[in-house]
Amino acid sequence: MAVITRFAPSPTGYLHLGHAYSALFAYKAAKESGGQFILRMEDVDSDRCTPDFENGIYEDLSWLGLSWEEPVRKQSEHLDDYKAALSKLAEQDLLYPCFCSRKDIREEIKRSGAAPHGPEGHIYPGTCKMLTEEQREEKIIAGIPYAFRLDMDKALTLLKTPLYWNDRGKGPQKATPEIVGDAVLARKEVSTSYHLSVTLDDNWQGITLVTRGEDLFYATHVHRLLQELLGLKVPDYHHHKLILDKNGERFAKRNQSVTLKHLREVEQKTPQDIMDMVGIYL
Ligand code: GLU
Repeated sequence: MAVITRFAPSPTGYLHLGHAYSALFAYKAAKESGGQFILRMEDVDSDRCTPDFENGIYEDLSWLGLSWEEPVRKQSEHLDDYKAALSKLAEQDLLYPCFCSRKDIREEIKRSGAAPHGPEGHIYPGTCKMLTEEQREEKIIAGIPYAFRLDMDKALTLLKTPLYWNDRGKGPQKATPEIVGDAVLARKEVSTSYHLSVTLDDNWQGITLVTRGEDLFYATHVHRLLQELLGLKVPDYHHHKLILDKNGERFAKRNQSVTLKHLREVEQKTPQDIMDMVGIYL
């Protein structure tokens, strides 16, 4: 069956070999099924995203031989839409403001000794969930920056049945979003977060197969819950392996030597060389 896939990079650096694998994987899945490939810019983090990196993405992907549906959706142009969805969650009383810095969270975990643990480390210990309305007001008035977290316990009470998704890589999956804890769904200055905007866009853009690295497998548990809370369609997923460098490490944007730009311009690699390096071919 024809699938609609997407590649959704954040323009916070140049694409590297890991991105090339991911983009080729999504493109191939779409084309082999006679479907469509969509490119989306996940640029809500305005401090770190630049037009130069965005143009770099178009250049690298065209050079690799990919083409995509136009126009490209840029998340930064749809902030009001994410805000409207966030309000729906707020109306159900599923959000609370969290004023904790990373340091506060680390200290709270140390203090409590038995903070809950998820598959990716400690989960948010719920410090700000206990605040009274007055305490919240005080902190907001004092200008302390905050984020909105999902009240996971409460959200789970709204579910009528367990949630599942079809994972084309790992087989049928039962969603257990509680292992991720009270995920951040928005920041005060931007009324969205990765979790919220990616889930909404995959629905709004009609994505039927979400392909992405297995580093985002646990994020999917949260996304599946958001789909239920917001009445969104549920695509299939395929969490693919991550390709690693010769030291067994994941590629990082800060390592310039593995960017496609460097490989093309300095090392004179061809698109065929890149496909050989990542082991996936069009
Ligand atoms: N924007 C995310 C990233 O660059 C990927 C989003 C996704 O594929 O779900 O890591």
